Amino acid sequence: MRTYTSTRRHLQGVTSKQAILQGISEEGGLFVPEKLPIIDFTFAEMMTWSYQELAYRVMRLFFEDFTEEELRHCIGAAYDEKFSTPEIAPLVSTSQVHYLELFHGPTLAFKDMALSILPHLMLTSKQAAKDTSEIVILTATSGDTGKAALEGFADVAGTKIIVFFPEEGVSAVQKRQMTTQEGDNTLVVGINGNFDDAQTGVKMLFGDRELEGQLREKGYMLSSANSINIGRLIPQVVYYFHAYKELVAQGKVEMGMPMNVVVPTGNFGNILAAYYAKSLGVPIAKLICASNENKILYDFFQTGMYDRNRPFHVTTSPSMDILISSNLERLLYHLSGEDTEQVTEMMAGLREQGKYRITDEMKAQLEPFYGGYADDVTTATCIRQVYETEGYLMDTHTAVAYAVYKQYVHESGDVRPCVIASTASPYKFTGSVMAALQQIEVCEQDDFALIKELEKMLDEEMPKGIQGLETRPIRHTKVCEVNEMKSVVCDFLV
Ligand SMILES: *Cc1c(COP(=O)(O)O)cnc(C)c1O
Repeated sequence: MRTYTSTRRHLQGVTSKQAILQGISEEGGLFVPEKLPIIDFTFAEMMTWSYQELAYRVMRLFFEDFTEEELRHCIGAAYDEKFSTPEIAPLVSTSQVHYLELFHGPTLAFKDMALSILPHLMLTSKQAAKDTSEIVILTATSGDTGKAALEGFADVAGTKIIVFFPEEGVSAVQKRQMTTQEGDNTLVVGINGNFDDAQTGVKMLFGDRELEGQLREKGYMLSSANSINIGRLIPQVVYYFHAYKELVAQGKVEMGMPMNVVVPTGNFGNILAAYYAKSLGVPIAKLICASNENKILYDFFQTGMYDRNRPFHVTTSPSMDILISSNLERLLYHLSGEDTEQVTEMMAGLREQGKYRITDEMKAQLEPFYGGYADDVTTATCIRQVYETEGYLMDTHTAVAYAVYKQYVHESGDVRPCVIASTASPYKFTGSVMAALQQIEVCEQDDFALIKELEKMLDEEMPKGIQGLETRPIRHTKVCEVNEMKSVVCDFLV
């Protein structure tokens, strides 16, 4: 049975179900598989599989304590007609690169790939624990995660979900997506404060022993949907197998020959999934890590020093505006030869001084990675150029990846087939995308008007996820102060 250990302490016998339910290890470490699995299928076999079949064959290697029936049920419930294409994650080629479109889920961003399955993995895990309490997901969001979690958990029996967002800190579309959320088990609350305030408030609720006791008595158990849960990470490994399969199927790469991947990165979850896929044998040569002006990862790859003592930039790719890439801890664990003491020390450095340095031995192992970054101007230029020359419209996050891809090719001359993880639909960041296209007159309009302009420009119907959004009834109007969050939670859970 494959078991999980922590990045900060050697553990024995933690099953994947326990790791999914617990989210994070008691001492603050992240769960990692004790040993990475070895695939028990060939790439030739994989060629005929649907996305769902591939998901099953990959995930079963990591989640060995799930029965076939349980895992297939979770996969079936996640990757269904909620996605606007039966391919789930289509690979779209232009003359230069291949875009792995991860944004065809209900909220138009790649977080749907994992958050559509996480609720089902959690429920199945809870049944195994013979725990009859109801799962309460508590999340702070700067926009994308909250909506994707709401969609994933809405009307899932045995769960409730509460999302706090900064009342003035999300886009009009993001806000409307959340405040119109259906499902009797959902609660969406605006905070008078910024994202950090919301995040800090949620963290305090998680650490509140009194609240935990009260909720236990009422039959509730608090849990989190954030990206350090292995129930979010492992489903993301699947689409790198899928990308390779599609490249081969479309004749873009010869079976067995390597590809490169570029991932627009924030919390380091998506690119870590690519690293796991490579470790499992997917022929990936370079893992290209793209940052926006918050280029802490670029600096880390250059110098071996991770240092968050720097200004925070608000960019046009807000889902990558992050200075603590939580999932990097898992990479450190693997690079250090599973040295939990070393990882613990580095994480203490991050907590106490805001920085740490990796050893030269560890740095030498970063060789498969390439770090790059792009500012907002470069990102906008790429959106316009690619649209004008290739007719392909990228969102701002994907465009950061594209910009870094260009730098990489320029620097290295490496022109291997390259897959860009395309993480959001251009309809989700319409303001920045239209501004990049220099549609000056439309830039004065609100997001909803811009969506209609974009629809016209592309001569297509807007994605299902935002159709009718403007006129959907608003179901959530509560706004509270940070110090009222606890009473809001208690009131909802009576
Ligand atoms: C969350 C997000 C990212 C960053 O992904 P990580 O796994 O946190 O590195 C990139 N693009 C979009 C659109 C996102 O929502």
